[in-house]
Amino acid sequence: MAEPITVADDGSLVVPDEPIVPFIEGDGTGVDIWPATRLVLDAAAARHGRRVGWTEVLAGGKAHDECGEWLPTETVEAFRRYRVGIKGPLTTPVGGGIRSLNVALRQILDLYVCLRPVRWFTGVPSPVRHPEKVDMVVFRENTEDVYAGLELAQGSPEAKKLIDYLADELGWAVRPDSGLGLKPISITGSKRLQRAALTYAVNRGRRSVTLVHKGNIMKFTEGAFKAWGYELVAEEFADVAVGWDDCGGEPGDKVLVKDVIADAFLQQILTRPDEYDVIATTNLNGDYISDALAAQVGGIGIAPGANINSVTGHGIFEATHGTAPRYAGQDKVNPGSLLLSGVLMFEHLGWQDAADDIVAALEATIAERIVTYDFARLMDGATEVKTSEFAAAVVDRL
Ligand code: NAP
Repeated sequence: MAEPITVADDGSLVVPDEPIVPFIEGDGTGVDIWPATRLVLDAAAARHGRRVGWTEVLAGGKAHDECGEWLPTETVEAFRRYRVGIKGPLTTPVGGGIRSLNVALRQILDLYVCLRPVRWFTGVPSPVRHPEKVDMVVFRENTEDVYAGLELAQGSPEAKKLIDYLADELGWAVRPDSGLGLKPISITGSKRLQRAALTYAVNRGRRSVTLVHKGNIMKFTEGAFKAWGYELVAEEFADVAVGWDDCGGEPGDKVLVKDVIADAFLQQILTRPDEYDVIATTNLNGDYISDALAAQVGGIGIAPGANINSVTGHGIFEATHGTAPRYAGQDKVNPGSLLLSGVLMFEHLGWQDAADDIVAALEATIAERIVTYDFARLMDGATEVKTSEFAAAVVDRL
């Protein structure tokens, strides 16, 4: 019988053999990629004597049609109660009260880690010569920075008030016709993100964690993010990790912690990608970096993502692309992004064996050039299949 996931005293998840897992099918191509994803996840779990107790919850267009709300309270409560869930892409409501459903879910559950692993799968068409050298896991801070939503419109009374205050109290000359945005970066927000990245690196035997920042210009936000990262290593990870300056770049068997300025990083991921492994970065940098890296491995259509609270164990695993409405219901698009997000979810549940099986089967399928339209148009000698056929081919190779 399906049971809820619970949390042990030490904060780890206690996952029954049949955990209740809420899912949002998603709008647009959600009707295509969700059933395909579920087919593969169920088959992989079954090989290891497990089942997923799927329970559908509504959000987006389907919720709006059925109950007049974009994000019903029951959906948020289901994610809160059952802790781990998965979602297809959602239409962003136009003119509704919620700016983005994804942002709303992240904020309500305080999902402060945006996790985006980026690696290449043999055979996937890529714009670079050595996509196989990219194997990074990006930890992007999800709650602060210029994404905090603290903005004032140009010309508003509030903007004028703040501009006047800055002039009077700090002597800052801000042009009177400016819009304003605040970039808060806190010790709390930075260290909990960095702690999640370091813990991941240590637990998975990764080589390094790189703090990516723009601290040469923004000293008290981006620069502080870097400083707090090294501080955290000394405070909590001294036995398993070491900062570059403390080991001259020779970490022995510890995880090496280093830092790089964001613009140099964007060059080096093209010229020397194999020097980078786990990445910890602020919100805006992380947004650009994860998409740039995904493009480098040809993976925009199959890039997975997760939003996690590493303390409570809450996690929502999601396709990183949108609803691609013009393909909806055609059984045509690539289910890889949602499927690999399901793999991340299995890893989060501790089902590493089933997760590894799916990755191996997916690799085998693509290596045989059995692919959906998006890859087929870029590959020689590909066999183009439908979404459902691709899922069946992956299941055959489990
Ligand atoms: P999109 O849905 O991501 O689609 C853009 C293009 O990406 C598609 O035309 C297609 O390219 C490619 N693509 C997307 N999904 C694919 C898949 N599964 N397989 C292969 N190719 C895929 O972006 P959009 O058209 O800008 O946004 C549409 C709606 O989605 C909007 O309402 C937006 O707000 C929402 N959205 C939601 C999320 C989310 O829920 N996480 C994220 C982004 C956008 P080709 O046509 O070139 O093949």
